[in-house]
Order: sequence, then structure tokens, then C-alpha cells
Amino acid sequence: MSPNTNNSMLIMGTGAMACLFAARLSAASYRVTMLGTWREGLQALRKNGVVLVDNDGSERSFPVQVTNSPQDCNGVRFALVLVKSWQTQRAAQQLAECLSTQGLALTLQNGLGNLELLAQFLGAQCVALGVTTTGATLLGPGRVRPGGEGVISLNGHPRMAPIARMLSKAGFTIETTPDATALLWGKLVINAAINPITALLGIPNGELLARETTRSLLRASARETAAVASAQGIQLPYPDPVAAVESIASRTAKNRSSMLQDVQRGAPTEIDAICGAIVQAGERTGIQTPINSILLQLVKAMHPTEKDKSTKTSREIIRGHKMEKVTSLADLRDARARLPAPVGFVPTMGYLHEGHLSLVRAARAECASVVVSIFVNPTQFSPNEDLSNYPRDVQRDLNLLKEEGVDLVWTPTPEIMYPPGYQTWITVEEAASVLEGSMRPGHFRGVATVVAKLFNAIIPDKAYFGQKDAQQAVVIRRMTHDLNFNLDVVVCPTIREPDGLALSSRNVYLNPNERQAATVLCRALVKAQVAFSKGDHDAKRLLQITIEVIESEPLARLQYVSCAHPDTLHELEGEIHTQALLSMAVYIGKTRLIDNVMIGDQ
Ligand code: AMP
Repeated sequence: MSPNTNNSMLIMGTGAMACLFAARLSAASYRVTMLGTWREGLQALRKNGVVLVDNDGSERSFPVQVTNSPQDCNGVRFALVLVKSWQTQRAAQQLAECLSTQGLALTLQNGLGNLELLAQFLGAQCVALGVTTTGATLLGPGRVRPGGEGVISLNGHPRMAPIARMLSKAGFTIETTPDATALLWGKLVINAAINPITALLGIPNGELLARETTRSLLRASARETAAVASAQGIQLPYPDPVAAVESIASRTAKNRSSMLQDVQRGAPTEIDAICGAIVQAGERTGIQTPINSILLQLVKAMHPTEKDKSTKTSREIIRGHKMEKVTSLADLRDARARLPAPVGFVPTMGYLHEGHLSLVRAARAECASVVVSIFVNPTQFSPNEDLSNYPRDVQRDLNLLKEEGVDLVWTPTPEIMYPPGYQTWITVEEAASVLEGSMRPGHFRGVATVVAKLFNAIIPDKAYFGQKDAQQAVVIRRMTHDLNFNLDVVVCPTIREPDGLALSSRNVYLNPNERQAATVLCRALVKAQVAFSKGDHDAKRLLQITIEVIESEPLARLQYVSCAHPDTLHELEGEIHTQALLSMAVYIGKTRLIDNVMIGDQ
């Protein structure tokens, strides 16, 4: 079904805008393929095509090809990116697998950062920015109602002409603009003001104007975002941002923002690409963004956790939940003895983020009781490492863990873990001697020792670790087996920021430029992963691809990169036949970051 001809369009996404564009292009006799991940959406589209429901209720159906695999789209020339911003990274990875090197992907998404993210994966020559005022409402899987005629403004791009022609033939009004970024900011001012407040209060757009409090918040938000735009030299496409926002809220009075719909559906929202991106731009330009920051936090607080999705009554359970926090060994043993089995355990060094919380959620889903330890283990830091500066905020950690329904938190002191005269160590030999072990001598001796002591004190049935620290997981598995600990080691996937950076407590050390540069680790790994999936199976070649990407980033300094057997960590050579662990350590400025991906058959 490869949509690789001049009259074919690949549409990334199956939501409202994706369906609207698919219907219009299909009606104009183009061959449309929709690539998405939403199962119900794909099923409905496959069965009925895209169904366009007009305002008078009449329905027309248009044929589309449907797939969830980029491999079905090899060599595609034209693509429209119409996924939500939090899905852009996945869309970029998929496009990297199928877009022709001469192809063009046009993003018509809301929010900032999507063009840059796509360019990281596809190269700037293969991506273009457009802004549309066209709207659409999804009435059900594959069923869409157009939300009024709008204009599509396209920035200049040498490969844009065929896509512009197709969109124009499909009935859209096309304008070319020298500066689509200014239009994107124009839309951002409006989205940042209307969407989060309506989502938080559960009200349609018009009600923002009916209440004095929301109206002044709306105005203050518009002024704040406009100030950030202006500090970057961006000229908004209207003279008065407050008047523009109020006029849109009034013209769309009955509409419910897509962020409100997302919150009501219990889905993630685009808040990071809207208020989050404005806060970041404010940090870069020295403009305070208190309103966007608060709206960002509040909307994020409405996002469902994995647990909310899995158990209907979890909120009620957590609300009445009692979490115990202990420090001494005696209190720990006493509290542990009262916990129902099976007991899941998550060891951490605190300063918790979504990566840690994903382990807690996995434990909560599989075990009757969940224990978390917070201990910054001094023996796994060498004298020149960041022990004294390691970020700490125990009160915040405890609040997060209580929210997750954790039963028991142990915060031992260094004196409890290493009493005076301490001299007993656990050394895992081979697995701990390579990669991180060779760069950080003594690190895994500290890790294995503290984890064994934590296991001895807590006696868990299952212990949860992150794939983010892949070698640590291998070392702990080995030790657990060798020392006959009676427990299962569970390794959970790496949790990443929307732009691919693996979450880590150490990311707080990065300044804004370094934070941007830090995406290079994930970009390098994904590039090798994509090369592998396209048939490049030679270990040396994959390492070379990774190194080239890292070396292209001026703020990055590669310490090591490895392509190793995922269980033995033996370095691989020649063709990779099964699986390999591609891992690396990179300095971004003074901050040392690690990351890895698995390649090959899962
Ligand atoms: P730390 O507090 O850094 O010792 O990490 C505690 C646990 O969280 C370890 O098992 C880590 O592998 C895991 N972890 C850290 N970052 C992530 C992440 N981004 N995704 C998944 N797990 C993580």
C-alpha cells in the first residue's frame, strides 16, 4: 500500500484534524494513507473510510488506506503531521523509517517545538511548517465534523509546491507566508489563554468572558505570552493580543477546547507544547511567566496516572491511604512485618521524577504492598563525583509517593547503612567491570552492596529497576541470582521527555542550551535503531552512526558508546543476529548523561 506516488498523501494521526484532511484529500481523488496507533480509530477507518459529518447532519464516507506500521509506507514523498504534540516524537521516528530522502513532511500541529523535533529526526530539508485556522471535531472513531472554513498558511520551502497544490485542490485556502513562526505564536497566545483555563474549569470557551475572574486571567495570560513573543523579536499577526483572544473566545463561545476534551477523556494534553514551551522561551529570554507556569502545573496535575487507568476505584483508595515513613532499621522491620504479601520494592536515590514513579506504578499494579527507599548511597560515588550536590527534596518525594499509593517509605541514614568500621562489600565481577564499571571504578561495588543490604532489610517479593540504567539491571540480576535472593527482579522501560531525553535526576544540572543539546543522546540511538530496522546490522557501522550524531553536537563530548550482548554485556562484532544493547555515556557541559536502547528482535 506504499503511498509513494506523486498523488498520494501520508497522514500521520487519526484524530479530528487528521480525519478532516484525509476526507478532503480523498474527496479530491488523492490516495490517502493514515498511519496511527489508536486501535478503535484504525478499525473504524479500515471498515468505513473517513466519515465527514456536515453541519446539517448529512454524512459522506471517503476511502483511505490505514496502517499502524511505517514499513507499509516505504519511500513516501508527502506527509502531513497531524498528531498531538506529545505524539510527535513517535511520529518523527516512524517518518524516519519511511519518508523518502527527497520527501517533505508538513506539520500543521498546535504548539511549539514540533518542527524542531521532526527536523532532528528527518533533517531540516525534509520538514516544513504550516499553520491552519481550520478546525474540526471528532464525533467518534473515524467520524469528523468540519469546524468552519479556515486558511492554511505555509512557510516557504523549496519542496512545498506539490503539497500546496494538493491542499488547494482539496478545497483549502492556501497562503504562503515568509514567517509561519509568527503565525504559530499568534495561535499560541490564543491556545495558551483559552485551552488550559477551560480544561481546568470544565467550561466552554464563551464562559471565560462571562466571569470576571476568568476574564482577567485570560487577559493576563495573553499579555504574558505576547511579552515572551515580543522578547524574541516575533511580531504577532494582530495588533492587540488581549482583543484577539477575547474575540476568538466570543466567536467560539460554544466550543469546548480540545484540551478540555482530552482532560475529560482522561488522555494526555498538549500543555507541554503550549504553556510548557512558553515557560521555556520565557526562561531563555528572561521574561517571567508565572501564569503559564501555574497553568502548566495545574493541567499536568489533571493528567491520569497509569493507576487511574487500570483501577476504577484507585482514587478513592489513595485518598484514604496511609503511607508510613520510617528511618531506623527497627521501625522498618516492624512496619515491613505488617505488610500484606506480595511486597514490591523500588530502590531510589530520591529527587523523584516520572521514571521513578513508573516503577512505583508497576509495583502498585502487581503487588499487594509497595515499599520505596530513598537513600543517596555515598559508596557508589567516587570522590570526584557529585555526591554533595546530588539533588534532594525528600518532602516533595514523600508527597509524590503518597499520591501513588505507596505503603512504606524507608529513608535510612548513611550511619544506618554503613555503621562505623564497615568493611563488607559485594563485588559482581565480569558484568560490573565493563562500560559504566570501567569508567566509574567502584560504582557497582557500591550499588550491589547497598541493594543487597536493602533487599536484606526489606525482604521484597519483587524489586523494580529501570532500563535507563541497563547495566545496573544486569548487575543486580546477576547478584540476586548468585546470592540466592528469593525475589524477582523486574526491569521497566525508560521514561523520556517528549523530545526524547531520558528522565534523570541529573537533568536539573543542565542549563537551557545544554538541555537542548542533551537530546543528542536519544537522537543518536534512534538513528542507529532506524538504520538497524532498515537492514544495517553491522555492529561497527551502528556505532559509527551513533558517534557521528554525537559529534555533530558542539556541547556534547562522548565518553563511550557500546554495542553489547544485553545479558553478558560482551561487546558485539560483525552482524547482529538477535538483540543488542546500544548504550553510551556523554558529557553535556559538565553533566554526565547515560542512555541506551535495545535493538533487534524483542
Ligand atoms: P536513581 O534514583 O537514579 O538511583 O534511580 C532509581 C531507579 O529508577 C533505578 O532503577 C533507575 O534505573 C530508575 N530510573 C531512573 N530514571 C529512569 C527513567 N527515565 N525511566 C525509567 N526508570 C528510571
